[in-house]
Formats: sequence, structure tokens, C-alpha cells
Amino acid sequence: MTNKADKGACLNKASFTDSDWTNWKWQFSNRVRSLNGLAGLLGVPVDSLSSWEDVLHVYPVAISPYYLSLFDCADESDPLRRQCFPDPREIHFSLGGVDDPLEEERDMPVPGLIHRYSDRCLAIVTATCAVYCRHCNRKRLWKENVKFSQRRFQTMVDYIARTPELREVIISGGDPLTLSDEKLDWILGSLRAIKHVEVLRIGTRVPVTLPMRVTKELCALMKKYRPLWLNTQFNHPREITPDSARACEMLLESGIPVSNQSVLLKGINDDYETMKDLLYGLERISVRPYYLFQCDPVRGVDHFRTDIWVGMEMMEKLWHNISGLCLPRFVLDSPGGRGKIPFQPFSFLSDRKANLQTLF
Ligand code: SF4
Repeated sequence: MTNKADKGACLNKASFTDSDWTNWKWQFSNRVRSLNGLAGLLGVPVDSLSSWEDVLHVYPVAISPYYLSLFDCADESDPLRRQCFPDPREIHFSLGGVDDPLEEERDMPVPGLIHRYSDRCLAIVTATCAVYCRHCNRKRLWKENVKFSQRRFQTMVDYIARTPELREVIISGGDPLTLSDEKLDWILGSLRAIKHVEVLRIGTRVPVTLPMRVTKELCALMKKYRPLWLNTQFNHPREITPDSARACEMLLESGIPVSNQSVLLKGINDDYETMKDLLYGLERISVRPYYLFQCDPVRGVDHFRTDIWVGMEMMEKLWHNISGLCLPRFVLDSPGGRGKIPFQPFSFLSDRKANLQTLF
């Protein structure tokens, strides 16, 4: 694990010890959560950040010291900074988008449980995250500030128990790995006790934003509930660090397969070289590139959205040039909750058709 000497330029290294740094609870409770905190990082007066104040009234900020250490806070164009620092465009609502473009709320038989596809469902167990990603497609939850509640989760468990076609449960949020080991043990144990639930899955960004959370104890706990799969979200090659690689390796050694679901983000990973480096990096740390999502039309996220053709052209070039093991499926989650639409490189298919015609 990295030590204090390796930390980024905007952190005050005198304010913590090496053992603080490696303690996920310290990292979590020392997240930057206010305008004052952001001003302190940038070394500017709070008054100079008034355009962010309005954003924070709508969409809160949270950034772990670890994630802050990965970039230069003063560089406005940094692809990691852009994922976590507020941007006035988030509240230019005339740019379009809706709070819930996938209409998840419509498919909730009980509060917090999305049951859209017959064989699986998704449980929102908390709205809290280690870092609030500005491109998040569930930003609406931050405003509601949904906290973990045993009673609320028990209602979900009761629904799952009386719905035998559900063979897989995705535990999501927010980020479920911001909960304590005790709560996670109870959540996973409650689901594992239901006979028809064969597979559990956790959606989490902590390997990327708070890798210290992946402790020996957490891995031992998760191992008890296999088959358990974990999906995370690396969006940029610089997020692959010795710490994040170590977290993924610990999970893999515990028998928890780790897959990645990136989001295509304008100016962050929407160019061939960056995406290639990200995919190569994931392969190197044995994380499977699973999906690349077209960014959803979420309110306050428009400045991150690219034209679908940007992704198509990039995927086509990747398809022709990199190993199939590194290739994610490029998909659009269709608005209105009509499911995922996969996009294949068209010219590849038309080339193939032409080739097949010469063969037969
Ligand atoms: S960790 Fe996931 S749920 Fe949380 S803000 Fe980021 S994308 Fe959204």
C-alpha cells in the first residue's frame, strides 16, 4: 500500500499518519464534503467558489483523501478531478436530462428494490458513496439521502423470498461497501438464506475510490457467501494504482470475480488511446472489462455525454487492434427502462458479410 510520502500535491501531509492513510474508516470520515474543504484544497477563499455553492445545494460533494491523492487539484481539466469536483453545468437544467432516465422508480415493487428482469433484481441499500461521481445515473438518491435501514431491507428480503423466479440479487446503491462489515454480513446472510437465490452480486466503486475498504476481514466475510460477483467502475487508466490493483487481487484471491463497467465520459475516456490504456490496465490486474456504457441522459450530467458514434468508432478501432479479452460490450441502457441495447462495430459486421459471401 502507498505511504504518506507518495501523496498528491493538494493534501496536507502533516495532518495524517501512515496508519490513518491505510485505515478505510479514517479515509471515509475525512472525505472532503464541503465548500470550505474544496477551498482549502485549492488554497483559495471560499467566496471565490460561489458558483459551486449553488451546485452543492442540489448535489453534495464527497471525495476520499485517497482519490484526491491521484490528481492535481489545481488542474481543472484533469480527468479524475472532473469526475468528483462540482461543475456549474450540473445545475444548468435547460441542457436536458431527467432525474431517473431508466425509470427505475417505476419498477419498484417495494421501496428501493428494482425488479425489471424476471430472473434478477437490484437492491438499493444506501445512497452513500466514498466519492460522489458527478456523472452518476442515480444522483437523484443523494438528495433523498437514503440511509441503510434494517426494516427497509427486510421488506426487500420478504419480497425476494416470495418471488421464486428471482435467482440473482444485485446489491447496489450508492455504494454498499461503505456499510460496516456487520451490516454487510447481515445483508448477504439474509439473501443467502433464501433457497432460490443462487447468485449474489455487489456493485461498488470502492476498489477505485477507497481501496483500503477491501480488508482481509471484508474478503473473508464475502467469501462465505459465494457465488458472489463484484462489479466495479474504473473509468480512466490513472485509476489503476498499486492500491486499487491490490484491492482487486485480494478479492480475486478470495474467489470473488471482479468485472468492470466503465461509463463513456466526454473528455475523460472518449478517445482511443485512453480507452486502450484502461482496458490493457484492467487485463493486467485480472479485472474483466465487462461493459462500456453510453452515458445516460441524467439531469445534471449532459456535459459528460458523448455522441453515440464517438463510442462506436472507438469500439471499432479497439475491436480491430486489441485482444478480445480486453474488449467490453458497448451498450446503451435504453431510456424508459426498456433494457440494454448492445452496439457492435457496424463496418466489422459488413466486412464480415462481404468476406462470407466470397467464402460460400
Ligand atoms: S460510486 Fe456509483 S453510485 Fe456512487 S456516485 Fe459513483 S457511480 Fe454513483
